[in-house]
Amino acid sequence: MNKTWLSIFLAVVSLATAHATDYFVSPNGLDSNPGTEELPFLNISKAIAKAKAGTTIYLREGIYKPTVSDIMKVKGESNVYDCVYFLSTNGTSQKPITITGYPGESIIIDLSDIKTENRIMGFDLRGNYWHLKNFDIVGIQVTQTGHTQSINVGLFGGSNCIVENVNMHDGMGIGVYATKGSNNLVQNCDAYNNYDPVSENGKGGNCDGFGFHLNKAEFTGNVLSGCRAWRNSDDGFDLINNFAPVVVEKCWAWENGYDANMVSRGDGTGIKSGGYGMGSSPKVPAVIPRNTIRNCIAYANKNQGFYANHHLGGLDFINNSAYKNRRNFNMVNRKSVEENVDVDGYDHNLQNNVAYFPISSGADCVNINLSLSTLSNNTFDGSLTVNSSDFKSLDTSELLRPRKSDGSLPDIDFLKLKESSPAFQCGMGWEFEGSNVVASIFDDSIIKEDIYFNLNGIKIDNPANGIFIKRGKKVFLK
Ligand code: CA
Ligand code: CA
Repeated sequence: MNKTWLSIFLAVVSLATAHATDYFVSPNGLDSNPGTEELPFLNISKAIAKAKAGTTIYLREGIYKPTVSDIMKVKGESNVYDCVYFLSTNGTSQKPITITGYPGESIIIDLSDIKTENRIMGFDLRGNYWHLKNFDIVGIQVTQTGHTQSINVGLFGGSNCIVENVNMHDGMGIGVYATKGSNNLVQNCDAYNNYDPVSENGKGGNCDGFGFHLNKAEFTGNVLSGCRAWRNSDDGFDLINNFAPVVVEKCWAWENGYDANMVSRGDGTGIKSGGYGMGSSPKVPAVIPRNTIRNCIAYANKNQGFYANHHLGGLDFINNSAYKNRRNFNMVNRKSVEENVDVDGYDHNLQNNVAYFPISSGADCVNINLSLSTLSNNTFDGSLTVNSSDFKSLDTSELLRPRKSDGSLPDIDFLKLKESSPAFQCGMGWEFEGSNVVASIFDDSIIKEDIYFNLNGIKIDNPANGIFIKRGKKVFLK
């Protein structure tokens, strides 16, 4: 190969392997730096402005404390928020744009110096395929005294984004708040000690851990998984005014409705699973979505554990566990769009749920129309009941155990059932994954034998590959 051909060959190779530049940011960096690992930027916004599809932005250890002059996008005609970090570039499925804490380092973004006359948002995700990962956001402010809110991470248009192991706490804003976008995943995030003492006389009535309020039916495929919400002054998870079905799975909500010092504040629901309010002419979608709540825990929330919140249709509650909420499950519905009166919940589907020790006597599951809803294999529908001796642990401190190194939820025994408990043998509670467990196959005589059933409850004599139920537990045969 002569020199000319070699240089052409090398140029082609470098084109083929060209990839978006990665950037590094450090509290000790300089924005006049090139943003390399050796010479990082100071401001995260500097790296965001340069990011292209495929870019990874690494945040190095330390505390980032942006100021008002760092705000990337101030309030405009279409947006009432001042957005500190504005993520409008699009990634792709092959080349997402990632902002991640550097592996093994502790990264805190402190927004407490961002005080303007407007609502404040930490990260505004407008572009597709962003992945936020492995950092904390603290100290977000509210400055307005009327009806308002601030937001740590907003999903306001981007689709196919992942917010993972981002912890939002000790501020005045909502953790993650979604109004637009499809197929977004909020995974393994914590939102806690969020309370707004400034607006509306310090009621704290807007500060939820996680709020999904998708404003069009087309925004499907949104999932919250493995998230925890505690001591948020309003609700742990809130799906009010939501037009597209959302899945909340493996999430834990406790002590919401209180501030960090357990002073009573806002609504206090663990997982507020739907609803459009009780106004006289609510804005509702043509098709009322069935949100799915599964494998979740609600403990000691001020008012409701799992709440239908005057929804205008049915909701799915599968394999959840509730303990010491004022009402563990409150399934109240609104009668119709035209009639703003409460009625016992209709079209709900409740399977394999455990409720124990509601603070309000007898309130394991209230306001449910048993003939218009489907209930099977719950501790509150006559299947069986539980008491303290059924549980492996009622030690609530387990909820606060540190996450595993991959960011997933810690192993706990809290509200898990002993294997000797009939409820365990019936596959009830948060630890079991299975929406199709059929109560009849858990008859006492059957659970003691090595008989296999398919998920429709039909006995299978010679099971081949697949999922079956044996002795009250789901088994996988390969
Ligand atoms: Ca509220
Ligand atoms: Ca709320």
